[in-house]
Amino acid sequence: MIPFEQAFGLVSGTGLRTGTEEIYYTESLNRILAGDVVSDMDLPPFNKSSVDGFACRKADLDNELEIIETIPAGKWPSVPVRSAQCSRIMTGAPVPDGANCILMVEETQLMPSGKIRFTGSFKKENIAMKGEDVRKGDTLLRAGKVIRPQDIAVMASAGHIKVLVSVMPKVAVISSGSELVEPDKKPGLSQIRNSNASQLMAQVARAGASGKYYGIAADFEDLTLSIVEKALSENDMVLITGGVSMGDFDFIPSVLERAGVKILFSRIAVRPGKPTTFGLHPKSAVFGLPGNPVSSFVQFELLVRPLLFKMMGCNWKPLDIKLPMNEKFTRKFTDSMAFIPVMITGDGFVAPVEYHGSAHISALPEADGIIAMAAGQQLIEKGEIVSVRQI
Ligand code: AMP
Ligand code: MG
Repeated sequence: MIPFEQAFGLVSGTGLRTGTEEIYYTESLNRILAGDVVSDMDLPPFNKSSVDGFACRKADLDNELEIIETIPAGKWPSVPVRSAQCSRIMTGAPVPDGANCILMVEETQLMPSGKIRFTGSFKKENIAMKGEDVRKGDTLLRAGKVIRPQDIAVMASAGHIKVLVSVMPKVAVISSGSELVEPDKKPGLSQIRNSNASQLMAQVARAGASGKYYGIAADFEDLTLSIVEKALSENDMVLITGGVSMGDFDFIPSVLERAGVKILFSRIAVRPGKPTTFGLHPKSAVFGLPGNPVSSFVQFELLVRPLLFKMMGCNWKPLDIKLPMNEKFTRKFTDSMAFIPVMITGDGFVAPVEYHGSAHISALPEADGIIAMAAGQQLIEKGEIVSVRQI
């Protein structure tokens, strides 16, 4: 049995890394950027009006101004603005030469002569200057980040339509256990529905990787071995749930060894998820996750998800929010580090959710996150600041 930090260190140190590929930028949501995005132009590309109004000279604020042209967005001005003149201009249109401010239309008055007059008090120029947001050659997005919608907008504005991203790790998901039936079936006596496989497939997808489900392996060693071998030959990572605890049919660690996996650990001092097993095959990482759904979920979040990001060149960190506990929390056994599902209340406190242990599958949908208690730590005081890791 090893401490959680050591397990995390071993998982982080695999050195496994997927390759890169070029994809169209609109397809890149949630992928990991593998090359910097550099702007091919200044932004704004020209001095741009930020309001609808009249472009003129600041020196002319007290004068009646003759309107010499109308400049809609998308049109280049045809004449410069001279003294006592202005051009009607729309938001987003280029500011004509000679003008150094835009009077907002709401702060002007049209005179019977057809000229306009400023009726406001001068506050600002209302011009976005060429290059004030971005200079040509500026690095806008750095390799290693998870691509979000706002990043895609930046790619679009910079004309960066082919994006280099990391190839998604291929991840096999296998359920083990003779008691399992697929969720579309009504379980018979002594059977339960397989909830881990779909949970893991969804966690894999959320981590930006590509999952493939290999079905339920009933508790026969040779059958399980053949499924594991096939999965190993086709994937960068294999996740198998169940069969890692101390029961008569918990032979996953030995099956993995027979498949040529070098086991790095098979017990972690952590709750839930003590029997979590991890090993390496020449080209892939293998996790034997506990069968209990909460353990499987939590160990994926703690160990598998960071590794998937690492394999894609991303130093992903979960969102940790520091908030006070709304009640005193105690636990019985303090031999291991523990992770406890909690919710964040509307008034900004952390409250443990009802949680009966690692088989209590309906506890997790209530939870916004998990909090850690160190080995030896027995209680958290009311009002104590805890770090909530979003799940
Ligand atoms: P095991 O690790 O195989 O001893 O399984 C521990 C517990 O988790 C048992 O109660 C199993 O029935 C349950 N379990 C195992 N695999 C799954 C699964 N895929 N979905 C839901 N529960 C499971
Ligand atoms: Mg089992």
